[in-house]
Amino acid sequence: MTILTTTGQFACDFVDKKLCPKCDQTKPLTPEFWLPRKGSRDGYRGVCRLCWYAQQRPNKRRHYARNRVRICAERQQDRRRNPERRQMADLRYHLKHRERRLEYNRRYYWQNHERLLAYKRWYNRHVRRLRRRRHTDRHCRRLATCCSAVAAGVHGGSRAGSGGEN
Ligand SMILES: [Zn+2]
Repeated sequence: MTILTTTGQFACDFVDKKLCPKCDQTKPLTPEFWLPRKGSRDGYRGVCRLCWYAQQRPNKRRHYARNRVRICAERQQDRRRNPERRQMADLRYHLKHRERRLEYNRRYYWQNHERLLAYKRWYNRHVRRLRRRRHTDRHCRRLATCCSAVAAGVHGGSRAGSGGEN
């Protein structure tokens, strides 16, 4: 609807224009630039759209601060009523931050890899050995003689053949 020339002047003369007293700019009298308001002389607000929003911003923050509890409760209710919306938002967030998350994981790994390796060593030495021993004992008790897996050394060379210790 609005045509701007290279100098930034509005080129079309058939649209009414109005001067915004706040930013001192003349803008075409269309809903694109002015917020409609019933009852006013020309059907629009006294200041342009951008100035109106700028002027409303502090009010909005104050409004939120005063009505925080109510606003939060309403949002919570909206989320309950419409869980798919939340799921979609979560998914969008997940995909949008995928690269950042991977990068963080990589960096975390390299910054802590000594510690992580030490834990892995500890885990292999203690937890897995305990598990393996329990597994072997159960097997051997059931079969009376060591199963072929134990003989083959699957359960650990040093313990192969020692299943009869109980
Ligand atoms: Zn303005």
